[in-house]
Amino acid sequence: MIILKSSEEIELMRESALIVSKTLGMIAGLLKPGITTKKLDQLAEEFIRDHGAVPGFLGLYGCPSTLLTSVNEAVVHGLPTDHPLKEGDIVSIDCGAVLNEFYGDHAYTFEIGEIDPKTKKLLDVTKASLYEGIRALHVGNRIGDVGFAIQSFCEKEGYGVVRDLVGHGLGKKLHEGPEMPNFGRRGKGKKLVNGMTIAIEPMINMGTHKVRTLKDGWTIVTNDLLPSAHFEHDVAIVNGKAELLSTFQYIYEALGIESDEEDEFRTKPLVLN
Ligand code: MG
Ligand code: MG
Repeated sequence: MIILKSSEEIELMRESALIVSKTLGMIAGLLKPGITTKKLDQLAEEFIRDHGAVPGFLGLYGCPSTLLTSVNEAVVHGLPTDHPLKEGDIVSIDCGAVLNEFYGDHAYTFEIGEIDPKTKKLLDVTKASLYEGIRALHVGNRIGDVGFAIQSFCEKEGYGVVRDLVGHGLGKKLHEGPEMPNFGRRGKGKKLVNGMTIAIEPMINMGTHKVRTLKDGWTIVTNDLLPSAHFEHDVAIVNGKAELLSTFQYIYEALGIESDEEDEFRTKPLVLN
């Protein structure tokens, strides 16, 4: 079901999204060879609770963790483990939090030390495709226009766009309508309207788009075991266009990166605190 949000509700959702953004920023500062995803998970849970929020994934659908940590060929839904991350790995960290009854849900794929240039390109294209999708998320367009924007951008690089998992509406439930596929046809699907709040999340594979689930019942990996990237933002449609609720700026602050990539999707400047 699609539940449209009032401007007051959207402001509450911005707070929920920013808790997740801050958590990812905290994690960004810790990511180096040797750290385990289980340690990150423990620190993320503490951080979220210290900020007056509740982990969003923990316990939902039986999820055993605060973070979902997907390394290399893992696409999404990887469970934290005691295996240390190593130089050259990539890890998608997906985090949810509930504050004021609303969910925040966003993700970033991080580099551990130096990664190979082909994998770096996969990350750059996947993140750029997220913004291609957000740019298409406006009144006058339909769901299929967003998917088309992401899919065409990634497929021209020869990448596989995951079909089995999709973005989603977000609100008092982690998964609300509409489904927001990262593939689609122009002019098809439901109309985009003001008040929609969406978690948009391209999952893009270096090779085949096909994926399978590991025996742990959670981790989704690429069929060809080539790397996969995943970036996710929380977005509201306000005054006809996409407005970002989440931010990667806490991550960039931790990593010493300057970026104005989010500016076009903000009506008021972001103040980091
Ligand atoms: Mg997520
Ligand atoms: Mg999501």
